[in-house]
Amino acid sequence: MASTTSAPKKILKQGMLDNVMRQFNNSANIIDLNPNIRKILEVTNNELVVHFPVRMENGEVEVFTGYRVQHNNALGPYKGGLRYHPTVDIDAARALAMWMTWKTSLAGLPYGGAKGGIQLDPSKYSIAELERITRRFTYALGDNIGPELDIPAPDVNTNAQTMAWILDTYMSTKSPNERSKNMHVVTGKPVGAGGSEGRDRATGYGVFLNIKFWAEHKQLDLKGKTFIVQGFGNVGYWAAHFLEKEGAILTAVQDAFGSVRNEEGISVEKLLEYTKTNKGSIVGFPETNPVDNNEFYGLDCDICIPAALGNQITAANAPKIKASLIAEGANGPTDVEAEEILLQRKIDIIPDILCNSGGVIGSYYEWLQNRNSEIWSLEEVMEKLKKKLKESFSKVMETSKNRKVDMRTAAFIIAIGRLEEAYVQRGIFP
Ligand code: GLU
Repeated sequence: MASTTSAPKKILKQGMLDNVMRQFNNSANIIDLNPNIRKILEVTNNELVVHFPVRMENGEVEVFTGYRVQHNNALGPYKGGLRYHPTVDIDAARALAMWMTWKTSLAGLPYGGAKGGIQLDPSKYSIAELERITRRFTYALGDNIGPELDIPAPDVNTNAQTMAWILDTYMSTKSPNERSKNMHVVTGKPVGAGGSEGRDRATGYGVFLNIKFWAEHKQLDLKGKTFIVQGFGNVGYWAAHFLEKEGAILTAVQDAFGSVRNEEGISVEKLLEYTKTNKGSIVGFPETNPVDNNEFYGLDCDICIPAALGNQITAANAPKIKASLIAEGANGPTDVEAEEILLQRKIDIIPDILCNSGGVIGSYYEWLQNRNSEIWSLEEVMEKLKKKLKESFSKVMETSKNRKVDMRTAAFIIAIGRLEEAYVQRGIFP
């Protein structure tokens, strides 16, 4: 890699990294993971930090810091999103890269795990500036990403447009004859630029399906059930869209700017239309009342969907949660202390690496289509996604029952077990 920071011997720090390591160790202890394989999995393979200059609209140059952490590629090329957010740093990228390794392993995909992004607040930049920042970041990443090496995708504050810029920049650095062989260097592209039908809704649809499978398991009907969503981006919106279609009622939403509530129900589509006229925010949506952000997680509801950032459900708000299910659309939204409280209170948690895995599964279908020059219909993609998620959900429930463990522990046991098997079979070079 062009520039690296050395991987720490043992990663133990507060925040998301502490969280993912504790989740990993908990399941690794239960399965008595081979100690040599544990040593490999508890550190990241490669860590790239880039500083790059970009010219702003006012003529000044600003220098940005970008990250790409590649945790593990035992099962296939590194895979995972790029997020644009002030909280992006090396530890956040490490934690999120690890979660990607467990997520792709659990889903049975031929991928490893990676994550990265840029430390910035995108709302402070124009579209033209964001395009230049993205292109220069892609150039700085150079051949550390690649269609068979490391395949980025959208994450917090990045979208199909961001992926199209990355694709165009990456391709432009290749010789004309090589260009079209690189279509699968990123997933989550616009359909018109090599993207796949259904990838836009894949994560939210997956969150919805997991909730539906859970409800079937509990012999519950989702019709009339109330739900609250933290984050009204791609994941939060699509999860709410499918739940509303099923007859569930959205009663409160929180975004980066505030929280709104209506116990009688909030129209998901009207709320989306409103955000388009309100700089992307839900705040002030007619027929809702503002709610104090600190009270959000304590609101009455049946289902709670954190679909924004990590470490949102903590020991401070977990005792107040009224929902009987937490469906993790975000990565790492529940910290370990909060999880203990919730499980004691008999609140179910569909863990992130299962709950939001529809996104990376959708990415895999896009990657396969690009690689084989195929174009699948929306129905085909959604059908395949549903089948795959059902398999994952059933496996997690089965392991949870057999081992008498919660769903997250079960999901990690399956994910780590698959990696352990690959290492045992292949051995360690040289
Ligand atoms: N950023 C998404 C995630 O956290 C999608 C990753 C991908 O499609 O590679 O799972």
